[in-house]
Amino acid sequence: MSELPVADLDASSSSLGPVPVVAVVGRPNVGKSTLVNRIIGRRQAVVEDVPGVTRDRVPYDAQWNGRRFTVVDTGGWEPDAKDRAAAIAAQAEIAVQTADVVVFVVDVTVGATDVDEAAVRMLRRSHKPVILVANKADNQNLELEAVSLWSLGLGEPHTISALHGRGSGDLLDDILNALPSPPPIIEDGPRGPRRVALVGRPNVGKSSLLNKVSKEERAVVDSVAGTTVDPVDSLVEMDGEIWQFVDTAGLRKRVNQASGTEYYASLRTAGAVEAAEVAVVLLDAGEVISEQDQRVLSQVVEAGRALVIAFNKWDLVDEDRRFYLDKEIDRELKRIPWAVRVNISAKTGRAVDKLAPAIRRALASWEQRVPTGALNQWITALAQATPHPVRGGRAPRILFATQAGVAPPRFVLFTTGPLDAGYLRFIERKLREEFGFEGSPIEVSVKPRK
Ligand code: GDP
Ligand code: GDP
Repeated sequence: MSELPVADLDASSSSLGPVPVVAVVGRPNVGKSTLVNRIIGRRQAVVEDVPGVTRDRVPYDAQWNGRRFTVVDTGGWEPDAKDRAAAIAAQAEIAVQTADVVVFVVDVTVGATDVDEAAVRMLRRSHKPVILVANKADNQNLELEAVSLWSLGLGEPHTISALHGRGSGDLLDDILNALPSPPPIIEDGPRGPRRVALVGRPNVGKSSLLNKVSKEERAVVDSVAGTTVDPVDSLVEMDGEIWQFVDTAGLRKRVNQASGTEYYASLRTAGAVEAAEVAVVLLDAGEVISEQDQRVLSQVVEAGRALVIAFNKWDLVDEDRRFYLDKEIDRELKRIPWAVRVNISAKTGRAVDKLAPAIRRALASWEQRVPTGALNQWITALAQATPHPVRGGRAPRILFATQAGVAPPRFVLFTTGPLDAGYLRFIERKLREEFGFEGSPIEVSVKPRK
């Protein structure tokens, strides 16, 4: 696993853009949980406020106007703390440091208290955008009371009633507007055929396979309603579905001609992989896995595409070869044990019908999303069972985790400090054990608290 791109230390460099984090802070009982419930639309159950149970920094998936973000409830505080204000401030501080925007909730029926004012001082020091919420403004009279909260110096109070929903839509608009960059759009609706790159070193059987699937599966389709297909691509029907094999013009025409230098071959592979969602890497099962094969595999992994490895020319594999091939796979493919594998013969047609299901499996993993609640439950248990090794007398802690994107799945760990590369790989391995991701690379990055 050593060569996989694991530790991208800055989540914000992700090309898909990270899912922003909104922290909800404030004194106990001002209605933070009620507000979080309102924001997430009660799609997930917010932990009930049980006296004595700490409820710190619980993250939830949220969406508004087709945008995705994470909202962190910070109800937790230590009722037994000697200095209550300090305990609350400490709790809030951690949440604030990991957030992109802070929603500061005040109870309008109580007004600004000393504790509120202490929290405001901390919020100022954080230099994070803060949205002041005057909650429990259940009626117009209470809405007027909110005027007094201008004294906190956080600008205009957003009057809402988290309980009744009053004002919460406007509040969500303002939260999204306050984010430093727009959150990712939730994509849905129809899309074109899945894009597949058929790659591998010369002579592994790419043209043969393309010809086989085109013939076996009845028709090469020329057009699909509503999609524009690049003329260098081929539309092929496999297993009742239309697939777009990208950059296949060369493959179709070529009949076993020399394919130029390896340099051009690798450029071509890069182009096809870039244009595709999933790559089918062909390996010649009759020959040893070569460096050139490895390079093609790396190109796919580094591009973050879903991966199916097809061992072609399986008709040439006898028992002897099978034995050595198994050993080779263990040795040469140990960094990508997650790839979906199929054993086929483009010549005889053996198991070519396994290709479409394999591609679908890889794509499903590529687009898999782990709900934030499940992810955090899992990672809390994992970190408890196997904490990060102590470094210089301290061990960094994972505050919470979120899946920042899909295609491929990207995870961000919010921590108290940088994590060892070895510990990160451990987490990646465990993530796969728990959630699968067969056929897809995944990325785990760390965002240490500043
Ligand atoms: P937290 O400790 O800040 O998370 O506060 P909770 O969300 O647990 O709310 C504390 C109490 O205030 C609960 O009894 C809520 O029902 C109540 N509450 C929350 N929002 C409102 C509101 O908008 N209006 C009124 N009247 N009560 C509210
Ligand atoms: P490409 O360069 O990757 O496109 O490979 P080709 O499709 O041109 O195949 C190279 C050679 O391998 C040709 O002689 C094919 O007939 C042969 N070949 C392709 N697939 C198979 C297979 O499954 N079994 C056997 N025995 N030969 C194959």
